[in-house]
Amino acid sequence: MSEYIVTIGLEVHCELKTESKLFCSCPNKFGGEPNSHTCPICSGHPGTMPVINKKAVEYAIKAGCAIGSRINKFSKWDRKNYFYPDLPKAWQTSQYDLPLCVGGEISFEVNGEEKTVHMNRIHLEEDAGKLVHSGGHTAVDYNRCGVPLIECVTEPEIHSADEAVAFLEEMISIFRYSGISDCKMQEGSIRADVNLSIAKRGEPLGTRTETKNLNSLRSVRRAIEAEIARQTDVLESGGRVVQETRHFDDASGTGYGMRSKEDAQDYRYFPEPDLMPVVMTDEDIERIKATLPELKAARRKRYTETLGLSAYDAEQLTDEPSVADLFDGTVALGANPKKAANYVMSEIMRKGKTEGEDGITVGVTAKQLAEILALVDKGEINLVASKDVLDKIWQSGMSASEAVDALGLRQNNDVGEIEKLVRDIISANPGPAQDFRNGNEKVLSFFVGQLMKATRGKINPKIAGELVRKLLTCS
Ligand code: ADP
Ligand code: MG
Ligand code: ZN
Repeated sequence: MSEYIVTIGLEVHCELKTESKLFCSCPNKFGGEPNSHTCPICSGHPGTMPVINKKAVEYAIKAGCAIGSRINKFSKWDRKNYFYPDLPKAWQTSQYDLPLCVGGEISFEVNGEEKTVHMNRIHLEEDAGKLVHSGGHTAVDYNRCGVPLIECVTEPEIHSADEAVAFLEEMISIFRYSGISDCKMQEGSIRADVNLSIAKRGEPLGTRTETKNLNSLRSVRRAIEAEIARQTDVLESGGRVVQETRHFDDASGTGYGMRSKEDAQDYRYFPEPDLMPVVMTDEDIERIKATLPELKAARRKRYTETLGLSAYDAEQLTDEPSVADLFDGTVALGANPKKAANYVMSEIMRKGKTEGEDGITVGVTAKQLAEILALVDKGEINLVASKDVLDKIWQSGMSASEAVDALGLRQNNDVGEIEKLVRDIISANPGPAQDFRNGNEKVLSFFVGQLMKATRGKINPKIAGELVRKLLTCS
């Protein structure tokens, strides 16, 4: 065991998925022509007045409720002053001493152990624009200016890259389930700053550095590992870690210092004169809290304890909120949980996955899926045919039953008709028939397979199997 203890605190910035921006009515949309989602307010023209987006306040409070924060009934806005070309006003409207949410905690599993990290705060603020570097020039795109953001600050209670990544995965899941953010790392809608220090066991916390703006779990991990190695080297060679802001370069896998760390006083925070404080009543907070759905951890528990699914299945089904919702809705409509789980995990997840993209697009409603499963259960279609039905109704309003008819897939359960087909297939394959009579049981599935092929999967495989056995045995 290393003689140093690593201490990490994260500051996670997460864009909220409101329709419009935090202080103006410009659309809050990723991408778009540069500077097309802008107005005088979000591009920082002097004399313009911000108007607070109530939905953003609600979402920030919802985030706090989801992790058990205390919600401040009185919170206010502050100006954080600094100059950078992507910040046209030269201040960021943020919250300093009275944030919306205080405290809270997130529990997660890491390497088989349960771990809890306490939160310091969640506050609401506006995002800055983006600098675009190309052809030796730098241009600025203000589309992201004024997009609502929550900054979630942890206590310094994380002790490794594994823990940091597992914490972030859990936080992302909670926010996605809560419906407040898509947390799409590849679109920069969630970014983390890593504060890290090391110290000898039993000694006070060491001097920390802050590595800014890591936008993938992979770079969070790599930046932490690189910074632990660097600080260890500094201390081992008798040096001292300097408190500074650092940048991690993904391409080279190394970090470098950018500037000595600024303190709160460098920002000359002062109360925002153009915005009223946010005042919430207990009823307001309760109303917002009531809009929270059941989160991942609770669902996983319910799936194993109440529905009797395996821990593995419960984990798979709850990975994506849209998939878990589909599964829950299907079971609520009467589907057998185990069968619904298997179907969702195989067919829905396979079909819903898009090459190169995170997440799963769910193209059927619970009603459509419950009907497919009911048709299979009643023997109206078999599992093979159900895949064609799924293809047909995917992202259409068609019912499963309509699709079955449109595709002519309704399964044949008529014993008389199937028997005729079985007789034909047996006389066409005298060799395998003899093999069966000589005791080779495996030939049975060969015959059923042939029948399925001949009828495009339209006969009842159970009836067919029984008839093949019967006719082979007594002929
Ligand atoms: P600031 O707002 O100046 O960045 P804060 O004191 O609010 O600083 O802390 C920011 C983050 O740094 C928090 O996540 C906190 O847990 C973490 N942190 C504070 N001290 C240390 C330390 N010595 N080592 C590692 N992380 C730390
Ligand atoms: Mg900070
Ligand atoms: Zn605007």
